Amino acid sequence: MLEVAGLEAGYGRARVLFGVDLTVAAGSLVCVMGRNGVGKTTLLETIMGVLPVRAGRIRFRGRDITRLPTHERVRLGLGYVPQGHESFDRLSVRENLRVTREASGGRDAGVPDEVLDLFPRLRPLLNRPAGFLSGGQQQQLAIARTLVTEPAMLILDEPTEGIQPSIVTEIEDVIERLHRERGLAVLLVEQYLDFAERLADRFTVLDAGVVVREGAGRELAEPEIRRLLAV
Ligand code: ADP
Repeated sequence: MLEVAGLEAGYGRARVLFGVDLTVAAGSLVCVMGRNGVGKTTLLETIMGVLPVRAGRIRFRGRDITRLPTHERVRLGLGYVPQGHESFDRLSVRENLRVTREASGGRDAGVPDEVLDLFPRLRPLLNRPAGFLSGGQQQQLAIARTLVTEPAMLILDEPTEGIQPSIVTEIEDVIERLHRERGLAVLLVEQYLDFAERLADRFTVLDAGVVVREGAGRELAEPEIRRLLAV
C-alpha cells in the first residue's frame, strides 16, 4: 500500500535519511523504531510531504506521490498524527473535528459517531475549547481529527509520548482496534517495545538514518533488538 524506496531527506545542509526502504502492506501495522535522533520523525515528515524528498521515491496505493503536496497526500488517504498533538486551542472539540473534516473534503461537517465511540472521554468535552483539555485528551483529539478525514492509512508519531499512563492504555487500545477490527493500515513510531511486539506485523529499526534491522513483529523479542534500541 505504501512503498518507500531509497529515500533521502534532511534539513538544510544536514542529511538525515540515507536510502531508506520501507513497505506497509494493506491492513498491516508497521512500527518504526530506533533511538532518539536517528530520523524517525524525519521519515514520517518526508512520507507526508512536510519535508521534500532529495532522492528516492514514495508510492501510495499504486500512485507515485513523491512530489505531491501534503494536502493531496491526505486526500489520497494518508492520515498523519504528528508529535505534539496540536489542535486549534480556542475552538471547541466539536469545532476542531468539524473543521478538519470539512478541510479534508468530508461529505458533511458532522462528527461521525464511530470516531466518538473510540474516544468516549471526548464526548462530554465536545463543547469545551481544545486548549482546556489535558495532554492525553488532546492526543486523543489529535487522533480523532485524523480519523474524521477517513484515512486509508494512519501514520502516528509516538502517540503515547509524555501522556499520563491511564490514557496511554486507552490510546493503545484504539490503535489496536483500528488495526484489528477495521483493518486500517498503520505506520507507527513507537517507543514501547512490548506494545510494538504485541501488535506489529513488521518492524524497522533506524540508526543514523539507515535501516539497520527489519523483520516480523515477533522478532522484536530477540535480545539483539533491545541492544539496537538500547533499552
Ligand atoms: P527521531 O524522530 O528519530 O528522534 P528526528 O527525525 O527528529 O529523529 O531527527 C533526526 C535528526 O535530524 C537529528 O539529528 C535532529 O537533530 C535533526 N533535526 C530534526 N529536526 C530538525 C530541524 N527542524 N532542523 C534541523 N535539524 C533537525
